[in-house]
Amino acid sequence: MRLTVRRCRMCRGVFNEDVAEYDDGLCKDCAMTRKYEGEMRMQIEVVKPTVNLLTEISAARDQIILCAYAAGKSRGRTEFPMLGESQILLSKLLRMRPPHASVMEHSAVSFLFGCSRIATHEIVRHRLCAFTQTSTRYIEEKGTVDSPIEIIKPPDMPMEDLGSFEYISDDAGSILQRTDGGAMPSQWVEDAAQALANYKKARAIGVKRESARYLLPHCLSADIVVTANFRQWRHMIYLRTHRTAAPEMRYLFEIVRQELFHVSPLLVENISEERF
Ligand SMILES: Cc1cc2nc3c(=O)[nH]c(=O)nc-3n(C[C@H](O)[C@H](O)[C@H](O)COP(=O)(O)OP(=O)(O)OC[C@H]3O[C@@H](n4cnc5c(N)ncnc54)[C@H](O)[C@@H]3O)c2cc1C
Repeated sequence: MRLTVRRCRMCRGVFNEDVAEYDDGLCKDCAMTRKYEGEMRMQIEVVKPTVNLLTEISAARDQIILCAYAAGKSRGRTEFPMLGESQILLSKLLRMRPPHASVMEHSAVSFLFGCSRIATHEIVRHRLCAFTQTSTRYIEEKGTVDSPIEIIKPPDMPMEDLGSFEYISDDAGSILQRTDGGAMPSQWVEDAAQALANYKKARAIGVKRESARYLLPHCLSADIVVTANFRQWRHMIYLRTHRTAAPEMRYLFEIVRQELFHVSPLLVENISEERF
């Protein structure tokens, strides 16, 4: 009787208890290698950080004014004042020394930041907030035309780097080219693309997302929702718009300051080192 020995079509290794037939007559290692060999295409967008306000701030502001009124009531007030008068009351409370800070805590305001993972590392150092951030364990960085990989331009890199790119690699090597007709990017875009290609390569040979993500660059764009009360937003605006703060953080928190100022200048006036 003749025994039939099945072998991997590529490495000729014998399939047995340890080596299973994995895909199309190949063992697992060869199937993964073949998957990786061949052309890899990846779409990349270089973008600016973004900030979106998620809360109806005027309602939060009016809630604070109500609380300011409650504090005023204890000083003999009995009627709810007109809005203009309430703002004066709020202003007085905030300027008191030491400040009557608790009124600023009766509000929850949420912002959605689209920023680098450098920035998210810094944002989550603020302990009096709630955070929800994009997962790199559960979300695949696809890099397809419909779902390009977004990376954040570092502040001091050229504006011309913003735009759309395609990274192609095959046996002959790799190339990064623009798909929006712009100028050649600076070296950092190529370096970031190379890091992303390493991630894609790891995924292609079967590395789990939770391990492959260690190869992702810090400039990868992440969404993070941050919820805090006005007192905490004032504190963060003070720290993160300071001239010593990181440029991306200054950019993000200047937008936060402007958004709050737009609704009520009072809420962001006189922000100083002193917490309230
Ligand atoms: C320009 C700049 C440079 C920085 N550089 C570095 C760096 O090189 N390395 C580094 O590790 N970090 C750095 N940080 C982060 C910094 O150390 C703080 O962790 C971060 O700014 C959060 O500030 P915070 O603690 O005041 O505020 P939050 O965590 O937002 O807390 C708000 C406030 O609540 C109070 N509070 C909160 N928790 C406590 C507590 N446990 N005990 C007492 N009071 C509390 C404090 O009054 C605090 O100011 C930097 C920050 C800035 C703005």
